[in-house]
Amino acid sequence: VIEIGTPEHSVVTTCAYCGVGCSFKAEMAGSKLVRMVPWKDGKANEGHSCVKGRFAFGYSTHKDRILKPMIRAKITDPWKEVSWEEAINHAASEFKRIQATYGRDSVGGITSSRCTNEETYLVQKLIRAGFGNNNVDTCARVCHSPTGYGLSVTLGTSAGTQDFKSVEQADVIMVIGANPTDGHPVFASRMKHRLRQGAKLIVADPRRIDLVKSPHIAADFHLPLKPGTNVAFINSMAHVIVTEGLIDEKYVRERCEIADFESWARMVADEKYSPENMEQYTGIPAANLRGAARLYATGGNAAIYYGLGVTEHSQGSTMVMGMANLAMATGNIGKEGAGVNPLRGQNNVQGSCDMGSFPHELPGYRHVSDDATREMFESLWGRPLSNEPGLRIPNMLDEAIGGRFKGIYIQGEDIVQSDPDAQHVAGGLSAMECVVVQDLFICETAKYAHVFLPGSSFLEKDGTFTNAERRISRVRKVVTPMAGYADWEVTLMLAKALGYEMNYSHPSEIMDEIARLTPTFTNVSFDLLEKVGSVQWPCNEAAPLGTPMMHVDRFVRGKGKFMLTEYVPTEERTTHKFPLILTTGRILAHYNVGAQTRRTDNVAWHPEDVLEIHPFDAENRGLRDGDLVAIQSRVGEVSLRAKITDRMQPGVVYTTFHHPVTGANVITTDYSDWATNCPEYKVTAVEVRKTNGP
Ligand code: SF4
Repeated sequence: VIEIGTPEHSVVTTCAYCGVGCSFKAEMAGSKLVRMVPWKDGKANEGHSCVKGRFAFGYSTHKDRILKPMIRAKITDPWKEVSWEEAINHAASEFKRIQATYGRDSVGGITSSRCTNEETYLVQKLIRAGFGNNNVDTCARVCHSPTGYGLSVTLGTSAGTQDFKSVEQADVIMVIGANPTDGHPVFASRMKHRLRQGAKLIVADPRRIDLVKSPHIAADFHLPLKPGTNVAFINSMAHVIVTEGLIDEKYVRERCEIADFESWARMVADEKYSPENMEQYTGIPAANLRGAARLYATGGNAAIYYGLGVTEHSQGSTMVMGMANLAMATGNIGKEGAGVNPLRGQNNVQGSCDMGSFPHELPGYRHVSDDATREMFESLWGRPLSNEPGLRIPNMLDEAIGGRFKGIYIQGEDIVQSDPDAQHVAGGLSAMECVVVQDLFICETAKYAHVFLPGSSFLEKDGTFTNAERRISRVRKVVTPMAGYADWEVTLMLAKALGYEMNYSHPSEIMDEIARLTPTFTNVSFDLLEKVGSVQWPCNEAAPLGTPMMHVDRFVRGKGKFMLTEYVPTEERTTHKFPLILTTGRILAHYNVGAQTRRTDNVAWHPEDVLEIHPFDAENRGLRDGDLVAIQSRVGEVSLRAKITDRMQPGVVYTTFHHPVTGANVITTDYSDWATNCPEYKVTAVEVRKTNGP
C-alpha cells in the first residue's frame, strides 16, 4: 500500500540506501511524509529512482522503533527504560570505569555508514580524543576496505576514478563481481542505456546475473569464473594483453613507474598465467578469456565497474591492484568512459572512510603516525592523540574474547548479522562489560547490549552523504527526531559525559571543521552545497567546484604504480565433506541486513532468503524446487528453501544475507583479505542436504 496524501511542501534530501546516492523530494502533508519523488536536478540520478528509495521509507515510523533509552546490567536482564540523561551517564561512567580498570585501549567504537559524514566524523573524534586511542572501525572493513588499500597504493586515492556520467562515454564496460541491476539499480539503468547504444559488455561473475542477458542487452563475454579465482582471472587478462602487444606504451612510459611496470609485465607474461593454464582454476574457457582481454584492450574507452565480488576475498586487495594494473597498462584511467570504479554498497560508506573511520587513518586518509597531521588535529581537538593504529573490528572481537577489550560504542551497525562467523561476533560482544548500541531497532547486535540509545533515521537529521562517485550531497531534516535527538546530538551528549565536550549547534559547523582539517574538503560547506546542489571531492582551491574525474594528467600519487599480483589460492577449499562453494549477494527489494526494507510493507516483499543451486547439484541431492535444505559449513549450519536455477554453475550455490533467522553469516568463515581483514564472504565450502522441514 502506497500512502498518498496531499503534499503541501517538500524537502530535497538524499536516499539512505545504496551508494548511488539518489536525490529525492520528500513531499509532506503537514508534518507527515507522504511521498518520495526522485529529484530531476539530482546529479547522481537525474530524476530516476529504484523501488527502495521511492517507496521503502515506512521503516522510519515502524512500530519496532525504540524511542526511549534503555539500560540493563546483564544481557540476560530485561531492558529498563530510563531518561536520556541516565542512559548517557551510565554509558559514560561504564566506559570510564573500564578504562580506569583495564587501560586506555580497552574500549573503542564503530561508526555507521548509514549515518552522515558529520556523524561519523564525531564518533571517530570522540574515540580518538575522548577515549584517547584509535580503536575505531567501520563497515567498510567488511566490504570495500580492499578498494581503499588497493587504489591508494596504485593510484594514490581510496576512491573511484570517475563520475557516474562517464559511463555514457564508455565503449567497453567490464563488470566484475557486481550485480548492478539489483545492487545499484539507478546506475545500472544508466549503464544499460549506454549498452543499448552499442557499448560492448564483459561480465565476470560466477552467476549468470541479469545483465548478462536482458531485453536488448547481451554480454559479449560472460566469464563465469569460480569463486576465489579473481586474481588468476585478472592476471590471465593481463597475460594476453602483455604477450599480444596490446599495452598502451606511450601512456605507461609517460604516466607510470617504469621499473614497476616491467616487473609486473614479466610476472603476468609467465606462461603459468596463460588463459589455457589458468582455466583449471578459473573455469573460464581460454578462448573466451582471450577474446575478452582483446576487447578490453582495443575496444576504445574501457571502464571497469566492480563490487563486493572483488573485495570480499582473501586476495581482495590484490585483485583491486590487478584491475588498476590492467587499466593503467591499457591507458584506461584519466579519461572519460574509462577508469576503475567501485560500486560502493552503503549510502555513506565512502564518506565514513573519508571521515577517518579506519583505525590507522585520520580524516582524509592520513596515517595516525604522521606527526605533522596529528599535531594539526591535536591543536584543534585540544587533546593528545595516539600515533599507534587501533584495533580493527575482528581484532576488537578477538581481544574481547581474550579478556583485553571490554567496552564498545556501536552507532548504527548490526555486526552480529553483517559480519562473518556470527557465533564469533556474538562471543566477542558477550565477553564485553559495556556494549552501547545506538540504533533504530533492537537489531541482532543490540541483543548483546547493556545500553540502548535510540537512533534517528535519515529523515530526522541534517548533514551530508558521500556516494560511490565521491559526490557529497545534502541530507536535510524532513521531520523532527522521533526520540528527541538526532544521532549527532547523541554523540555530543556522550562525549560531554565522558569529559570531552564538543560544541556544535548545527552539522554545518561540523562540516566547517572537516573542511579546515581535510585538504580534499577545503572548499566544502553547506553554503556551497545550497548553491550548487552537490560536489565531488577533491573540492579545494585547485578545484573549487569539485572533481568529477581523477588522475587526468597525473596520478594523485604522481606516477601510477604497478603492483605485483601473484595468484594465491584461498585457504578455504572444497573437501569431500564440503564439496560446494557458497557465495553471497543482494536482491533488489532488500538492503543489506534488511533492518529497513524488512520493516517496509510497500516494497516487493521477499520474506526469506533462498539458496540458488544448479539443477545438476540439486538432482545429485534429490532436491526439488522449494525444498527446505540445510547448508552446513565448518563453522555452522542454516536452513533455507532451495531455488533450482541454471543461473548457477555446477558446484557453486548462492544466497542473500537480508534475513537474520536464516542469516548467511552464521556459516561464512573467518578467512579474510591479507591486507585489510575484509572477510572472504564470497567463498565458503559447504554441503547442502534436504531436511524434513515443511
Ligand atoms: Fe536509493 Fe540506490 Fe535506489 Fe538510488 S539506486 S533510489 S540511492 S537505493
